Amino acid sequence: MDGDQIDAMCPACGQRGLRGFHRQDGVPVNSCLLLDTEAEAAGFPTGSIHLGFCPACGFIANVEFDEALAEYSQRYEETQGFSPRFQRFARELAAGWIERYDLAGKTVLEIGCGKGEFLAGMAELGIGHGIGIDPGVKPERIDTTAADRLTWLPRRFTAADADLVGDAVVCRHTLEHLAPVREFIRGLRTAIGERSTVVLFELPDTQRVLDEAAFWDVYYEHCSYFTAGSLARLFERCGFDVLDLRKEYDEQYLIIEARPVPGTASSRPWPADDMDRISAGVDHFAAAYGDMVGEWQGRLEAVAAAGRSAVIWGASSKGVAFLTAAGDHVAAAVDINPHKHGTFIAGTGHPIVAPAELTKLRPALVVAMNPIYLDEIRADLVELGVDAELVGA
Ligand SMILES: [Zn+2]
Repeated sequence: MDGDQIDAMCPACGQRGLRGFHRQDGVPVNSCLLLDTEAEAAGFPTGSIHLGFCPACGFIANVEFDEALAEYSQRYEETQGFSPRFQRFARELAAGWIERYDLAGKTVLEIGCGKGEFLAGMAELGIGHGIGIDPGVKPERIDTTAADRLTWLPRRFTAADADLVGDAVVCRHTLEHLAPVREFIRGLRTAIGERSTVVLFELPDTQRVLDEAAFWDVYYEHCSYFTAGSLARLFERCGFDVLDLRKEYDEQYLIIEARPVPGTASSRPWPADDMDRISAGVDHFAAAYGDMVGEWQGRLEAVAAAGRSAVIWGASSKGVAFLTAAGDHVAAAVDINPHKHGTFIAGTGHPIVAPAELTKLRPALVVAMNPIYLDEIRADLVELGVDAELVGA
């Protein structure tokens, strides 16, 4: 598929001319805000997604993203910290970074620290001082024995924040929420200056999303979509040497570790011939999207036609994206995060309920928005005595 030509500049490399390949209108502009009433949820503002692929560097951007529409505030509930599996992964990642980059007793800045649990974990594991910066940070909700070694700043990071930069900069699941990605990485490079600060980023891998036409992984807040190659090229271009680049968490996440260099050198620990693969993935997503949505709609409709109900498990961004495209016959969204219970999904207005509610709903089908949690969910269903078919999205 050729797609449409978009006369816009690539936010990652600056080249003009992107190939448009996916368009979706009426998408809720924020999928993590907790909405107190169904009416508020249904009347939630929507925006458009128009994905453009850069043939020069492989980066993918939502060219219609409007930052003013994506609200980040205290109501933003993005944490995955309630899942034991995710907690284990985060703990191991923190411990691995501390050991590999000798961060015991050192100062770590976390940009986009969310609710702060990762940085608090690093402090408990031995870093000397942690500075967490995020407009949505809620220090009062962070329960840690290392509170006296942590500083929280409820605002955004800018290139002028040089005084916050210490021995390492951690940034997890944040870069994909920023539209001017090159400006951000350049700003970080400027803030680091002459220091040899190691930078440690984690974000979703888009190659898998493209190859699997995983439409629930495309949502409004994610305006920037990286694959290993496009991510490494961005860091390299902005004056970093890429030390390591790998996939983790069942290959869902990219981890990039880099250090500043005076010029644009890199160890290149990734395949440089990845452009054809990204391009093929883009074509596949564009071709398979409609069928994928239709398949799920059909399956859910069949459950409803049989007089039974279906629920999704995971009222996160993936859940919102799934329900926006295929939620007509879904009764509710289940979530283990107690802060979400009793609220409603932006746009579609599905209620968010606790797992215990399933004993009343008695669904025939439970769709896990992230298959990595299938074992956890299965155990919860068994404990609740809910006999439903459980499938991963
Ligand atoms: Zn580009």
